Amino acid sequence: MAPLVSIGPSLWDKLEALGMASSYDVCAPPSMERLKGSLPGIYYAWSSGGRVPLLKVLFTNRCARDCKYCAFSALVDVPRYTFEVEELVETFLSLYRQGLVRGLFLSSAIPQCPDDTMEKMVGVVQRLRVRERFRGYIHLKILPGTSSELAMKAARVATRVSVNLEAPRESILRAIAPSKSLKGEILPLVGALKKGFTTQFVVGVGGEKDLHILRAVEVLNRSYGLKRAYFQAFKPVAGTPLENHPPGSRERQLRLYQGEFLVRCYGFTPQELVDPQGNLPRGTDPKSHWVLTHLHHFPVELEKATYHQLLRVPGIGPRLARRVLALRARGELSLLHLEKAGINLRKSGPFLLMKGRKVVKDPYNQRRLGLE
Ligand code: SF4
Repeated sequence: MAPLVSIGPSLWDKLEALGMASSYDVCAPPSMERLKGSLPGIYYAWSSGGRVPLLKVLFTNRCARDCKYCAFSALVDVPRYTFEVEELVETFLSLYRQGLVRGLFLSSAIPQCPDDTMEKMVGVVQRLRVRERFRGYIHLKILPGTSSELAMKAARVATRVSVNLEAPRESILRAIAPSKSLKGEILPLVGALKKGFTTQFVVGVGGEKDLHILRAVEVLNRSYGLKRAYFQAFKPVAGTPLENHPPGSRERQLRLYQGEFLVRCYGFTPQELVDPQGNLPRGTDPKSHWVLTHLHHFPVELEKATYHQLLRVPGIGPRLARRVLALRARGELSLLHLEKAGINLRKSGPFLLMKGRKVVKDPYNQRRLGLE
């Protein structure tokens, strides 16, 4: 495909390699998808305003580390590229001015000292912010082993930062990424950051249980301001030590997203959601499974239910739970008001009582759900 912007051949090669490289980057949220037919490195991210095209690139794919799942580890023989700071700034500006991207997602491999590479990545952002007065979205990946001071500097200039744990336990991380350390270089960063961060786990390769991951999410969210966790189902890469390892399950990835949301936003504990083997149920979403195995918790009396009790009712999430509480505070609990507030009475009604009476008399549903 012919380039849409004026980019020289060597820069084009870099953009193609480092933009494509970021699609392997296990730091990448799965909500980002490649813009079909566009320049390499341009991906969509989802925001409240809709789909936003981002330039998503690695600063370099040269790496001294030996993560066994990674296409750019020192163990793999691939062509290596590195941007110059000014070159990446100009490339981004060129794409931005032509309306092809609206933000930047910058990650990197680690050629030697993490601070050296991180300093250059922060340099890119500073030039965009200060010299070019770019106020748009910039996501910076904080590299493992970065000093706390530099991580905080990155957090000040970026819109969002992320620190990838990759695995929920030190022993699991050591097995898949021998030169990374949770205690030695990743958790100190998490502790140093003064604003929220996102993280990511590779799943299906280290023998980790869903319970391990959800517990880590719970602790990070409560104590360190984790905004969101992403999960990357392991994909074997040719030429790596794990090339013959089976891929991670996409369904497991989905269930982890659902479980993570329930722990972070609904107040479920990880232990409540997993089976005796420590894994989320398969074949159904974790909230539905919890409801069907805890029918004795229902129906819930709307006149007395707490916020967290409402969150466990099928069809009710944080927004609707707050609306129900607001209706109750105004003395407006009625079927009409509930429906107007967005409550799906067919779905949620069988699990609710109003002044001691079933909110919806639906004998078929009651019998089917075992609530009669
Ligand atoms: S640090 Fe590990 S995951 Fe990141 S690029 Fe290097 S080998 Fe790959």
